[in-house]
Amino acid sequence: MPLAIRETQRRSGSGQSQSTGTKEVVIVGAGPYGLSSTAYLQDAGIDPYVIGKPMAFWKQSMPGRMLLRSRIEASNIAAPQKHLSLAAYQRTIGRKLQEPLPIEDFIAYGDWFQGQVAPNLDERQVSRIAFSDDSFEITFEDGEQIRSKRVILAVGIGLFSFRPEQFSSISRELAPHSSEVTDLSRCRGKRVAVLGTGQSALEYAALLHENGADVVILSRSSEIKFRPFAWRKHLFRQLTRGPLMGLSHRIIPPTDLGDIRTARKMANPDLFKRQAPEVQEQLIRACTRPIGAYWLAPRLQDVQIKTTVSVTNAEVSGPTLKLALTDGTNEEVDMVLLATGYKIDIARYKILDSSIRQRIEQTADGYPVLSMNLETSIPGLYLAGVVAEKALGPTLRFVTGTSNAGPRLAAAITGQPVCS
Ligand SMILES: Cc1cc2nc3c(=O)[nH]c(=O)nc-3n(C[C@H](O)[C@H](O)[C@H](O)COP(=O)(O)OP(=O)(O)OC[C@H]3O[C@@H](n4cnc5c(N)ncnc54)[C@H](O)[C@@H]3O)c2cc1C
Repeated sequence: MPLAIRETQRRSGSGQSQSTGTKEVVIVGAGPYGLSSTAYLQDAGIDPYVIGKPMAFWKQSMPGRMLLRSRIEASNIAAPQKHLSLAAYQRTIGRKLQEPLPIEDFIAYGDWFQGQVAPNLDERQVSRIAFSDDSFEITFEDGEQIRSKRVILAVGIGLFSFRPEQFSSISRELAPHSSEVTDLSRCRGKRVAVLGTGQSALEYAALLHENGADVVILSRSSEIKFRPFAWRKHLFRQLTRGPLMGLSHRIIPPTDLGDIRTARKMANPDLFKRQAPEVQEQLIRACTRPIGAYWLAPRLQDVQIKTTVSVTNAEVSGPTLKLALTDGTNEEVDMVLLATGYKIDIARYKILDSSIRQRIEQTADGYPVLSMNLETSIPGLYLAGVVAEKALGPTLRFVTGTSNAGPRLAAAITGQPVCS
């Protein structure tokens, strides 16, 4: 039966107490997935209670002046309401956004989107989610509690940051994970080693270099790779604009992942799920392999790169850090930036009470087992975002996957098929 519930929203930061009673749906997370899910649910007649700091990960864990790796057509925070698209946003601000999209523009778009769908969201941190008496009990950092029949957890990738073992005893000042460094000006004049060769590592290296740091990239791979500009796709889109756009997107999905053979399997969760498990793995791995965007290559021309090396030992030496490398050489640096990515592990969901966490069915490698509607093995608890990439495919690692998550969450919660 379709639900039509209108919740009273707490004014963020106002300190007013909100309505009591059990809520129908609570969304924890106000990044692309939380905001997109809000839009889909509202379109289906449900106004969820939204918690989170708007676009917090983008504001606090990514560097200023970063350019999005995803093309504009793959950077929509999906919504059934057409007035929430990036195209509509461009019309609103009266300016065409540049490609590649600067992070500042994407954050402004996210904040604008939030203003439309959840202007009064609750910005408090959730400290615990437990289950009792047929509903979820959500406890805020200030001790206040609310209850909800269903919870959508869209808390992002940040809690899965991966620190290699060699750096476990080194301070975060000397060896921060890339998600802990946003202000690169503090590295001016310093020797900085960047560990990793994915898009993040290469972009941090370029930005650090442009900020006056003396950068060395340390890579396990034998070469640094850059994805060439997809000029065939670009040309195809140019030739199939306007009324042909629907057809154009059916032939080459706007998800900006994969190539002509794999793009549709990656874009469409049903098609993804029909692949053999090893093919699903390959499709996911193809989207996370270390490679930089084409526009990074010229920016890294003057940056020192050491390939086929890894760090065997890291030792604090006065104010600096001494890194022993597998090729027998040492690097003495002021800081090492661990652009070592993220490793999904459901045990990291510390806000979930252990009694819930332990009941969530998991894959052998720590992902939650989810239905095609993103429901965990605990009825009423849904997980959206990167944790769902094994369930719906690699789009879920990126903003573009919001178009796969939102309709499915809304369908699951309303019990009605929802148009994407
Ligand atoms: C360096 C970097 C660059 C990237 N570039 C791109 C790109 O160009 N294109 C692309 O598509 N993807 C990119 N990604 C991936 C992108 O970050 C994710 O696709 C996207 O942010 C996922 O959105 P989300 O809503 O799941 O989570 P997030 O954006 O991480 O949002 C998490 C939300 O949860 C809230 N939250 C977390 N914990 C709590 C709590 N305990 N209580 C209350 N609220 C909480 C936060 O306040 C926040 O609102 C990039 C990732 C990185 C690391």
